[in-house]
Amino acid sequence: MLIVFAVFAAASAWIARASQDHPVGYKDTPFLPDGKWRVHDADRPAPPVVTPGVGTAPPSDALVLFDGKSLAAWKSGDKDAGWKLVDGAMEVNGTGSIETREHFGDLQLHLEWASPEKVESESQGRGNSGVFLMGIYEIQVLDSHMNRTYADGQAAALYGQEPPLVNACRKPGEWQSYDIFFKAPRFEDLKLVSPGIVTVVHNGVLVHHGEAFLGATRHREVATYSPHAPTGPIALQDHGNPVRYRNVWVRKL
Ligand code: MG
Repeated sequence: MLIVFAVFAAASAWIARASQDHPVGYKDTPFLPDGKWRVHDADRPAPPVVTPGVGTAPPSDALVLFDGKSLAAWKSGDKDAGWKLVDGAMEVNGTGSIETREHFGDLQLHLEWASPEKVESESQGRGNSGVFLMGIYEIQVLDSHMNRTYADGQAAALYGQEPPLVNACRKPGEWQSYDIFFKAPRFEDLKLVSPGIVTVVHNGVLVHHGEAFLGATRHREVATYSPHAPTGPIALQDHGNPVRYRNVWVRKL
């Protein structure tokens, strides 16, 4: 314990000396509105260092939810996830929707998906799946390449609530990406104090910019909120179409 303290004290002294020798910032500037830090405050801590991934690879602080090999992070009801592992992807196979064992609140989520190359059916019957934040707020997954359906049900829609700003869908069978930035709803005394807010980038194209969820996703009904825990699982929908997912990672915010 003494040794740990000595090392800590030495390190603190070194940092203090280093910051005196090479001051970066100011101690005579006005305070920012939060009253905690001055403009360019010399003592304001630097953010943690993160090593970014190359391309869409996970950054160093991400939690990898699917790496192409293992479904260990996922379950289906009380059972292990039963989706098919194929070519570094997991594929919907009629065994039911899956959800992460771990629960999340505010997050950054990256995932890639592909609707079946062989086009079958139409409208909501074509490459239907979905990403359910906290298990209940759906970002729709659908083959929306030359596939007419209701606007709030197409790919990247907040299902039943808000269509994407544009249709950035690739062709069936091609890999597509979602980057989702989510602020979970807040409840106080069982009342909603701020809604869930989501920003979605589909294949590099912004399709929702700070959009508020009206509530938990419903079919043919207006979504409404019910109070729930501050965290929940990320769920992927089995809607009966063999949609594939790969490269799924999340960062807690
Ligand atoms: Mg769906």
